[in-house]
Amino acid sequence: MTSTLITGIGLLSTQADIGDVRGAAVILDGDRIAWVGSANDAPEADARLDVDGRAVIPGFVDSHAHLVFAGERSAEFAARMSGQPYSAGGIRSTVTATRAASDEELRANVDRLTRELLRSGSTTFEIKSGYGLTTHDESRSLRIAREFTHETTYLGAHVVAPEFADDPAGYVALVTGTMLDACAPHARWVDVFCDRGAFDADQARAILTAGIGAGLAPRVHANQLQHGPGVQVAVEMGAASADHCTHLDDDDVAALADSGTVATLLPGAEFSTRSPYPDARRLIDSGVNVALATDCNPGSSFTTSMPFCIAVAVRDMHMTPAEALTAATVGGARALRRSDIGRIEVGARADLVVLDAPDPIHLAYRPGVDLIHQVWRGGAPVRRAVDER
Ligand SMILES: [Zn+2]
Repeated sequence: MTSTLITGIGLLSTQADIGDVRGAAVILDGDRIAWVGSANDAPEADARLDVDGRAVIPGFVDSHAHLVFAGERSAEFAARMSGQPYSAGGIRSTVTATRAASDEELRANVDRLTRELLRSGSTTFEIKSGYGLTTHDESRSLRIAREFTHETTYLGAHVVAPEFADDPAGYVALVTGTMLDACAPHARWVDVFCDRGAFDADQARAILTAGIGAGLAPRVHANQLQHGPGVQVAVEMGAASADHCTHLDDDDVAALADSGTVATLLPGAEFSTRSPYPDARRLIDSGVNVALATDCNPGSSFTTSMPFCIAVAVRDMHMTPAEALTAATVGGARALRRSDIGRIEVGARADLVVLDAPDPIHLAYRPGVDLIHQVWRGGAPVRRAVDER
């Protein structure tokens, strides 16, 4: 194993309680962070890298992404931007394309999207199934997802499969039975879309309970399209995360604040459907743990860029730049129940992003500009600065 000493850090955003550190240095040893401190006190290392006054932040943790699919839906987006309302019907076209795709086609698409994620600084990402909706297509989606991340989520309960349009109870039986048995070996998490047009509270409880019984940990798509029971079900079931949280009442906010459930906000979805954003200020001011994630999917949020989500969260959701960065790193780690990522401290995985900026405020201050200078994942450089290639 070789160790690398990184010096010349303009600002080190650790996300730990000590906050931001100027003039810091970090030593990476193998896949871990071995030392953090003042550059003046740094011990020797095998290699040395000077980042010339740039800010260094933890790699982003994208805790919510739907990457196993085929096709794209840009025409639907254009129609929406021309004034047509968002409807859930589009999912069906992606399901049809996904079922028709070969394993190689699906794998190539996931490969392309995970490269985008890495290039934009996301060193950990979750991948959901949910565009197969048959036992065969859900399990192969998860098998392929597992080739790219350990954070795989069984989302057979995305919507009711078209074949079961007249028999939703039959579909829930499949999702909690044969399909679950085939998918559980390839998944860490079980998820359900508990919202209008998807699954109600009792169905969601049944799906999560079955998943927990198969050894999976729960998370929930909750309160995206309208106010509903999703957040309460998530808290009641001990979910790691309630995702979207766009339409909440006081009881929902109080329940989240009293729970270990993270509220994962997905501003790309509201941006791309021109919908009202979740009230991040209310959640943060009430003491709720908040994460930011991309929700990357071909229908409602086709972005892999956490810097974009940070910019929107700051500009339109009234999060401070520091809150948005925390939500995109340690917040995402909490939403995945991980303590080894999302922060720069001794023992954590050596996942770092070197920004082409002196301060991470620039992520929101310079929207749309690629500020990712270098990415280190598990101690290995996965993206080098353009001028070093
Ligand atoms: Zn989603």
